[in-house]
Amino acid sequence: MSILDQFRLDGKVAIVTGATRGLGRAIAIALAEAGADIAAMATRDATETKAEIEKRGRRCLTIAGDIAERGCVENIVSATLAGFKRIDILVNNAGIIRRGAVTEFTEKDWDDVMDVNIRALFFLSQAAAKVMIQQGQGGKIINIASMLSFQGGIRIASYTASKGAVRTLTMLLANELAPHNIQCNAIAPGYMATDNTAPLRADTKRNAEILARIPAGRWGSPEDLQGAAVFLASRASDYVNGCTLAVDGGWLAR
Ligand code: NAP
Repeated sequence: MSILDQFRLDGKVAIVTGATRGLGRAIAIALAEAGADIAAMATRDATETKAEIEKRGRRCLTIAGDIAERGCVENIVSATLAGFKRIDILVNNAGIIRRGAVTEFTEKDWDDVMDVNIRALFFLSQAAAKVMIQQGQGGKIINIASMLSFQGGIRIASYTASKGAVRTLTMLLANELAPHNIQCNAIAPGYMATDNTAPLRADTKRNAEILARIPAGRWGSPEDLQGAAVFLASRASDYVNGCTLAVDGGWLAR
């Protein structure tokens, strides 16, 4: 098989959470361009993402729900199996952030973030892995980490705790699922221009500080993640397991 063919995802089925906008939308479109059919999950129907995927000749199923709610994970898996009969790739992208000083941080802002960013990520990985194991053809799990998987940050206690956990949980999943030919890796985006970072970009002082520290000299775009996502979803990465790949314009190297 030629090297470019190793990146193809024809016949594969991928679940992408948080697929309505931002990074998840760009990842879903990239996987579809590489050949996969997509189950696009978010709190509301990912209709624009679906249109983009269908334009590219692939099928897209939208699944609406709150991933933090008990039972949602099972719904995602059963709806995907009902629509596409299999699951080959899972991208745990849905994520939220709450900002506040340590001395004022609320239990609600702790629990809400942990429920979406790490609890749901684990139980959806568990449910998808069971299906992949039963299929017996391996699989790929890609978690969306953060610079806060490596650094402490400021005023984002639950976010940094959740993203630190994403990195080590990715390694645990890689260890346990490797015998089933399931690879689990993470992508750590740098500072990307999405709704999630709109408050930072709107703060002139913070924006200038961030830009001055990025060797690439610009905010990342959702499209900057597409190559890494296709690589980690494809057989080109079959011997890559448990890593967190930074796509950060050099931020961590600084
Ligand atoms: P975003 O633009 O705010 O989009 C978040 C996505 O997650 C949306 O599709 C949203 O769906 C979905 N979502 C949120 N809460 C959900 C829930 N309870 N149930 C189901 N879906 C939910 O965020 P983003 O910037 O693209 O970030 C995506 C991921 O990358 C997150 O894990 C984030 O932490 C991580 N990340 C982002 C950056 C960055 O610079 N942007 C950097 C590092 C890591 P709705 O549209 O339906 O609300």
